[in-house]
Amino acid sequence: MNYISTRGHNCAVTSARAIIKGLAEDGGLFVPENIPIIDEKFLTSLLDLSYQERAKKILSLYLTDFTVEEINQCVDNAYTTEKFDTDKIVPTVEVEKNNYLLELWHGPTSAFKDMALQLLPQFISTSLKKLGDKDELVILVATSGDTGKAALDGFKNVDQTKILVFYPQEGVSKIQRLQMLTQQGDNVSVFAVKGNFDDAQSGVKQIFSDSKYNEYLNEKGFKLSSANSINWGRLLPQIVYYFSAYADLVNDKKITMGDKVNFTVPTGNFGDILAGFYAKCMGLPVNRLICASNSNNVLTDFLKTGTYDRNREFFKTISPSMDILISSNLERLLYHITNDATKVKSYMEKLQSTGCYQVDEATLKAIQETFSAGYLDDSATKKCIHDIYQQDNYVADTHTAVAWQVAQDYQKSTQDKTPMIILSTASPYKFSDSVLSALGEDISNKDEFALLDKLSTLNKDKIPQGLAQLQSLPILHNNLCAKEDMIKAVNTFLNI
Ligand SMILES: *Cc1c(COP(=O)(O)O)cnc(C)c1O
Repeated sequence: MNYISTRGHNCAVTSARAIIKGLAEDGGLFVPENIPIIDEKFLTSLLDLSYQERAKKILSLYLTDFTVEEINQCVDNAYTTEKFDTDKIVPTVEVEKNNYLLELWHGPTSAFKDMALQLLPQFISTSLKKLGDKDELVILVATSGDTGKAALDGFKNVDQTKILVFYPQEGVSKIQRLQMLTQQGDNVSVFAVKGNFDDAQSGVKQIFSDSKYNEYLNEKGFKLSSANSINWGRLLPQIVYYFSAYADLVNDKKITMGDKVNFTVPTGNFGDILAGFYAKCMGLPVNRLICASNSNNVLTDFLKTGTYDRNREFFKTISPSMDILISSNLERLLYHITNDATKVKSYMEKLQSTGCYQVDEATLKAIQETFSAGYLDDSATKKCIHDIYQQDNYVADTHTAVAWQVAQDYQKSTQDKTPMIILSTASPYKFSDSVLSALGEDISNKDEFALLDKLSTLNKDKIPQGLAQLQSLPILHNNLCAKEDMIKAVNTFLNI
């Protein structure tokens, strides 16, 4: 199967090439030329399989240029029971009748980003070998928190790759900083940047667009790349858990094979929910996909009105991974809905030049056949965390709570009784201050590790090992650079 650009540039490539390139040459995103279709027999064949085996079957429908052995090796390296704290990898938990949480945060860094960032490096390394590409890929990441650690852990000791993460010196929590500074691996490095997240991010962007410097790196045998969520290799792993959740509910006799389910997804860049759209197009019995946002509700407005307008106030919320005004992966949805790359290109050019575009009536109608949307502000999010704990004895993180409440609101207003699977994207331990204060606990003057302990008592659950061990791990990275000196940092790291 070939991959083509959402903006029409004629450049069909294999999946290996799409994964190495990241972006298409015309600035569009790679999409599969045809979405593979499955039948009930295929779904039934997933029932008796482990998560890893389910992943292999689904990935092989898309990675048609990979051998079976290559796919097996990628998956076996990514989803091990040493890295994940449950054999199920992604458990489905019934929290209330007909309402399930799909827990996506049992990976090594307790973040949903692990699901994709454990596999992407395996895909990259395998693709480089397949293509006979001898360069070393250097991944540069600017992070405001979770992505940096998940990327470090995914790329650690992966052949033909190196990873360098920049984080704002004052911009991350103590636990997030310790997660990065204790990172092991021969091919990893971490730099604090004197400045805020924007400084770190624009520094990285500048390095990517500096063609002279990129030429210099090529001469030395290095190629820069990013691990961000527009790479097809990051989206693809997320399709798997929609199928896996469905198979789990059939196995638990909560639904019968063929029954439809709904999914509600806490959304930022639109990658996670788009994976659900692919699953539906492939033939998974999905009724509706509900897009949940926080106060940065640009997607709620878009899905209701057809107008995407990023010209609005930006809010810093307690669900920071959803604080996004440009949802890059929406471009892929527009392509699949319209099948018209010229149209997609014109929308994206409008977004670039004016910050706003409006899709036509037919496109909006087609999108609304599958998608609903809702949003929640911070105080409603805290109330929701409190309510779920009171009613169901379940401690949800801030992102999960947004989705939970949006799902309840949807059910109330539509009377839709379809079983609801809500994607849970972060461990509550990663946002323990917001979660504890929502639960009415006094968090003033408490060290972050004391907060983990406190949460562990309320949750009647162990602190995830990756977080608990942070207090005792040695600090391996102690680099600081000025924002003007980020290229120097790259050179130091690469020893050139
Ligand atoms: C990244 C992230 C999201 C949003 O996922 P998208 O694919 O960007 O829509 C939601 N919750 C958490 C905790 C995340 O880290």
